[in-house]
Amino acid sequence: MTTMKPDIKHHVPDDLLMAYSAGALPEAYSLAIATHLSLCDTCRAAAESYDAVGGAVLEDAPEGAATMSMDSLAQTLARLKASEPREAVRPARPRSIFPGPLADYVGTSLDDIRWRPIGMGAKQMVIRTSPTASARLLYIPSGVGVPDHTHGGKELTVILDGAYSDETGRYGPGDIAYGDDELHHAPIAEDGGPCICLAVTDAPLRFKTIIPRLLQPFLGI
Ligand code: ZN
Ligand code: ZN
Repeated sequence: MTTMKPDIKHHVPDDLLMAYSAGALPEAYSLAIATHLSLCDTCRAAAESYDAVGGAVLEDAPEGAATMSMDSLAQTLARLKASEPREAVRPARPRSIFPGPLADYVGTSLDDIRWRPIGMGAKQMVIRTSPTASARLLYIPSGVGVPDHTHGGKELTVILDGAYSDETGRYGPGDIAYGDDELHHAPIAEDGGPCICLAVTDAPLRFKTIIPRLLQPFLGI
């Protein structure tokens, strides 16, 4: 039996992936990224490279010197591409719309989700994570817009089943959508079945303040 690979078009932004590899993200964001990684070979390979670079930088950096030029970062990445990536995130389990990292939180069965109605046939279930960011499963019926939708900060959405479209494009299974407080959009679930997704928002902390100074040389901020 083979598992259908999702046709992923939207990936994790590089800076977020680096912060994830450095273990610098709140639990809820890490959950969203790990969920995407379990479905996406491309981002998983990139994350494994960053894991290795982060470790190498930490080991090699002389005390007090916290800079790494983009040239040397590129050289390190090139060197690492030749080496065998190690297994970091388990691939998705077949026959569940909840990939391994997410299944650890919500189980594998859609029938076991304890939904709460949030209007217009939409439902949600809040996932228990550390309080610096919040994660929830959303169930949006076909043709319905995403309700209760404010952008107080950075938002990550991983599509698990179905699809939605908004001003920025179409998002299907495995895709990850990134939005900040600049983004004004009105996602609508496609026809043909509900859109089920994992949505993560930061509250009350602003995401940018969480990235430690250590990452600034990588991120150029
Ligand atoms: Zn990806
Ligand atoms: Zn949004």
